[in-house]
Amino acid sequence: MNEIAPHISAAAPAPKCATAPVGLLAELTHRCPLQCPYCSNPLEMDRANTELTTAEWQDVLRQAAEMGVLQLHLSGGEPTSRKDLEEIVKTAADVGLYSNLITAGVLLTRERLQKLAECGLDHVQLSIQDADAANADRIAAYKGGLVKKREVGRWVKELGLPLTVNAPLHRQNIENLPKIIDLAVELGAGRLEVAHIQYYAWALKNRAALMPTREQFMKTVEIVEQARERLKGIMVFDFVVPDYYAKYPKPCMGGWGSGIINVTPSGKVLPCHAAESLPGMEFDNVRTRRLMDIWLQGAAFNKFRGTEWMKEPCRSCDRKEIDFGGCRCQAFALTGDATNTDPACSLSSRHAEWFKVAEQESHQPAPPFVYRRIGGDKSKAEPADADAGE
Ligand code: SF4
Ligand code: SF4
Repeated sequence: MNEIAPHISAAAPAPKCATAPVGLLAELTHRCPLQCPYCSNPLEMDRANTELTTAEWQDVLRQAAEMGVLQLHLSGGEPTSRKDLEEIVKTAADVGLYSNLITAGVLLTRERLQKLAECGLDHVQLSIQDADAANADRIAAYKGGLVKKREVGRWVKELGLPLTVNAPLHRQNIENLPKIIDLAVELGAGRLEVAHIQYYAWALKNRAALMPTREQFMKTVEIVEQARERLKGIMVFDFVVPDYYAKYPKPCMGGWGSGIINVTPSGKVLPCHAAESLPGMEFDNVRTRRLMDIWLQGAAFNKFRGTEWMKEPCRSCDRKEIDFGGCRCQAFALTGDATNTDPACSLSSRHAEWFKVAEQESHQPAPPFVYRRIGGDKSKAEPADADAGE
């Protein structure tokens, strides 16, 4: 850490962004006992021996707080795979970061969760694969996950921590949405994220196995609207629509280099967790450069920041400050050029073609999952027992 430049580069041009992101997404590890085929981790994941040390993460958190970051999202992989999570949470609390643990829950014990709460953890976000136990096991290639998640949900409430349930939705669990909503209520969640899959990384590889039909998607809109009304004052809903059936794209990450900074297990600093899929990009590392310098002056952060990089139709569009042309990684994956308009946009010349792909894939029989694994793709794995290691 000694080699990190202590100040922002003196000769650097004035930044075109807020002096600090609101949130830091800290991917503590890519290790995870689950193997979800829609995982947003890159296809080439970081191995345990490349991960930042406890002291390095603590330094990252101090730097984040100094530059004005408010929220810390502790993610992975499975962040509870890190034996030093308590120390990291304690540091977050000491420097005044609001900490959110994003977890699949299966490695937690009540004692450990209590310890994390005592260290200052502020919030838990628990992911579920399905409300049907057997299907949840199949999707995650992990036995007994749902039983454990029910326990974890109970412990979170007993310890007085706020709980968000995150439910990624796709064609292989979409019919169970009403049961997933009931499960979130039963777990005592104050918030439920019904998140249609976004097709990057492993999800793009598994797109045909995950893509729902447009009719299935429209039904979920109706179900969420009704549940939102019925559960007013009990549970808040976040609803993420699938890009393939949208009219306009989402402002990916709230705009490139705008509100979130992402640090990978090995210390690379990314504007978005999928950014490594873009070719020709160079990412700074917290081991060699200060976080604030990377945020303000880093080449990757300035590559698509603002609107000057845009081509038509985005350049002259009155929505360009609203959605920032959508997702760069999706534009690259689907068109081969990251500066193109995201094909999720109905104004993109590729939109009709992309919608057709979704229609075709969603109506064909689902192929087997390619499960997410460190060390490469292995198609169609049988559900495995818990193992947090590599
Ligand atoms: S495999 Fe599943 S639980 Fe593990 S990090 Fe990926 S999405 Fe989360
Ligand atoms: S053309 Fe570009 S800026 Fe306009 S709505 Fe589509 S993606 Fe957004």
